[in-house]
Amino acid sequence: MAFNNNNNNKYVLLTFAVCPLIVAVGLTVVPELVDVGLSVERRKLEAVSVDFGRLSKGEAAAVAHPGTAEEVARVVKAAFEARFPVSARGHGHSINGQALIREKKGVVIEMGGQNQNDNSIRVFEKGMYVDVWGGKLWIEVLSATLEYGLAPMSWTDYLYLSVGGTLSNAGISGQTFNHGPQITNVYELDVVTGKGELVTCSEDRNAELFHAVLGGLGQFGIITRARIALEPAPQRVRWIRVLYSNFARFCKDQEYLISLHGKPEKERFDYVEGFVIVDEGLINNWRSSFFSASNPVKITSLNADGGVLYCLEITKNYNQANADSLEEEIQSLLKKLDFIPTSVFTTDLPYVDFLDRVHKAELKLRSKGLWDVPHPWLNLFVPKSRIADFDKGVFKGILGNKTSGPILIYPMNKNKWDQRSSVVTPEEDVFYLVAFLRSALDTETLEYLSNENRQILRFCHDSEIKVKQYLPHYTTHQEWMDHFGDKWTQFIARKMQFDPRQILATGQQIFQFDP
Ligand code: FAD
Repeated sequence: MAFNNNNNNKYVLLTFAVCPLIVAVGLTVVPELVDVGLSVERRKLEAVSVDFGRLSKGEAAAVAHPGTAEEVARVVKAAFEARFPVSARGHGHSINGQALIREKKGVVIEMGGQNQNDNSIRVFEKGMYVDVWGGKLWIEVLSATLEYGLAPMSWTDYLYLSVGGTLSNAGISGQTFNHGPQITNVYELDVVTGKGELVTCSEDRNAELFHAVLGGLGQFGIITRARIALEPAPQRVRWIRVLYSNFARFCKDQEYLISLHGKPEKERFDYVEGFVIVDEGLINNWRSSFFSASNPVKITSLNADGGVLYCLEITKNYNQANADSLEEEIQSLLKKLDFIPTSVFTTDLPYVDFLDRVHKAELKLRSKGLWDVPHPWLNLFVPKSRIADFDKGVFKGILGNKTSGPILIYPMNKNKWDQRSSVVTPEEDVFYLVAFLRSALDTETLEYLSNENRQILRFCHDSEIKVKQYLPHYTTHQEWMDHFGDKWTQFIARKMQFDPRQILATGQQIFQFDP
């Protein structure tokens, strides 16, 4: 059996005894897996045994580096026949081991490997869409489409995430209120199902698979190609932050701004987000570097309500052609808001630099050794009707003044989410993302923050605030049933149809892999 063991296409012959995969799955798979770049190199196995969260450890037997959809299909087909788990790995930026293989005999399919062919991103100018290999990063998609003056419409805050990885969740950011999540902006997919079949799907063709896979947590198939909608790319961004000491006013303004979705561009902002500031250190921290060192913000000087401040973050895209009217449009929108008048912070930058803003922070943190640390993140969708209770109980209650990372908060319109997809959101027309994006530099902090996350979830449960986790993590069958609620029956039926042997994305721990 030949295994592609490094980047230079050097093949080595491995014996039966040293390859746990062969021992595990038997010789039947051998012809299927030649040439898919299968590796058992310790270095590679270690690389796929951790993720960004650094809270779990995987145990894969081998890593595949397929370059084509057919190669992905061959690996999955082999897994289907020999019954071993396979997990697509995009960029491994999950928090709770969602892209890991936890069973000793499984294979990680590295979608972002070096073996991708040259056609992995193709821009169709006339059709205003781009066809992308599922393992490509959004930053790569952006670079390719900008060559044609085009760009996708809906983003995540951070672009070093894979297309397949974010489409398996939703893909949200400040544009979601207007364009919907990334999963709303996909025309077509190529998917390898859990039976190893390569299927093209869209709203009109194999629609059940299409909707199942979007937000499907990798449970129904591996996305090898996505066709993503494009728009003319703006050149620059006016980026504005304003502060609130009153939560009700902050929410009222955020909700007003997202109610302008669908209005002509000049009558709305292009991006609406926000964050919560509960300690002095945070406001001038990595994600808030916007507040310049020469102009530091002091919470105490702003009369914060219960020691908490709220920052609304908005942007307006523009080009040379409409630069003249920009200021007027912004002022007319700002006039309707009720922020602290002295707290307007503005900057102006190229569109790419705005979209890629978190990467700058990553480089800063990396240089200080603060990136590859445990991240006990918690992301919740909170229904609008209970966001004030959440503020009282969590921001002004459970959280001490040591947050260990940014806390994002912004609302979205449910009507921009296609209810046929697998993702679940609260039952109300408007719901908020609240994201606790924390880093733990030592075991004690990790314990403290993990415990705080549990307290927040318990508070929501006890107060009957019907939150839904985004990037969900549960360990029991009952919790998953509760998470999916009305969609659980459909989720199971889709699983039976597209991955009947339950071999896909076992790291999500939704289904128990049974060899
Ligand atoms: P992985 O972690 O590799 O995989 C995630 C899941 O998807 C796994 O179950 C995996 O098996 C499955 N999967 C991966 N590729 C495929 C594929 N091709 N086909 C089918 N299934 C697949 N999310 C947002 O929505 N908005 C944000 O603004 C945002 N910001 C982030 C910032 C940072 C710094 C980080 C670390 C994460 C952020 N996320 C955000 C979360 C991110 O979208 C998810 O963690 C996503 O899963 C990461 O993509 P990935 O490519 O690393 O996926």
